[in-house]
Amino acid sequence: MTTIAFIGLGNMGAPMAANLIAAGHTVAGFDLNPGPAEAAGVPVVASAVAAVEDADVVITMLPSGALVHAVYDEVLEHLAPGTLMIDSSTIAVDDARSAADRATHAGLRAADAPVSGGVVGAEAGTLAFMVGADAQDLPEITAVLDPMAGKVVHCGDSGAGQAAKVCNNLMLAISMVGVSEAFVLGEKLGLTDQTIFDVTSAATGQCWALTTNCPVPGPVPTSPANRDFKPGFASPLMAKDLGLAMQAAELTGTDTQVGRLVQEIYREFADGDGAQLDFSGIINRVRKASGDQ
Ligand code: NAD
Repeated sequence: MTTIAFIGLGNMGAPMAANLIAAGHTVAGFDLNPGPAEAAGVPVVASAVAAVEDADVVITMLPSGALVHAVYDEVLEHLAPGTLMIDSSTIAVDDARSAADRATHAGLRAADAPVSGGVVGAEAGTLAFMVGADAQDLPEITAVLDPMAGKVVHCGDSGAGQAAKVCNNLMLAISMVGVSEAFVLGEKLGLTDQTIFDVTSAATGQCWALTTNCPVPGPVPTSPANRDFKPGFASPLMAKDLGLAMQAAELTGTDTQVGRLVQEIYREFADGDGAQLDFSGIINRVRKASGDQ
């Protein structure tokens, strides 16, 4: 079994680390706010440096690329040669590549391995991991990720996992706004939320935003809408991901007209009423703009 340092134990990191422990790995965790980790039964130590002391593998699950670099500033010099660094945060492709470069220059090995599947997937151990790494490290990376994963896809070299992730979240944000608009429209046309769900979840509107993270309470009891949109996947994180997607679109000359509009919608929501809410709370904005609240 492997000794793993897990840094960043928030909504995602805490249940992910708990699944590693359940699989028999030894985990030393660190978070500036240790509450969620302690509640999930993950041992927390006093600093990032203390967490990496005996680590064979270091996993980071942090809100931004700047924080991944800040943690690397602290820990890189304390690691044994060959230690495997796996960053599962969602960050810019450039930040992922520069973090991996720093690790390899320090004699370590590195992978970007962002995830999809939300808190539900983190708790169930069914996340989809998108991996950017040397192919020769893949068997070891896959073995470490396995207790947290439904699927591990090798997307290419360093940064390729983050490239796949921004594409996924661009789709997700657009679909969540679409699902929200459709529910509000259906309600105004006299349909119940359950009827809209029963039809669309068995028809061509079917998607994760509808069937797992449904923005109305009732049809999917585990969705954030049933707990006043407590995240889940917080709106500011979705706004961040759309920023990364639009940055990538600009760099590559990709026309993402709907993506730009959805980015604006989420930016405004995250800076205002949605600051503390799951991204499915965007339905509140649709209701407000429709004169419903
Ligand atoms: P979160 O804000 O709940 O957790 C991040 C944790 O990092 C916090 O507990 C914070 O205290 C900790 N942290 C910040 N700086 C730190 C530092 N210097 N040292 C140690 N700990 C530090 O966020 P989350 O929802 O768990 O998301 C984490 C990452 O995963 C983000 O990049 C996000 O975009 C991505 N992600 C989230 C979801 C989701 O559904 N929540 C899904 C896929 C990907």
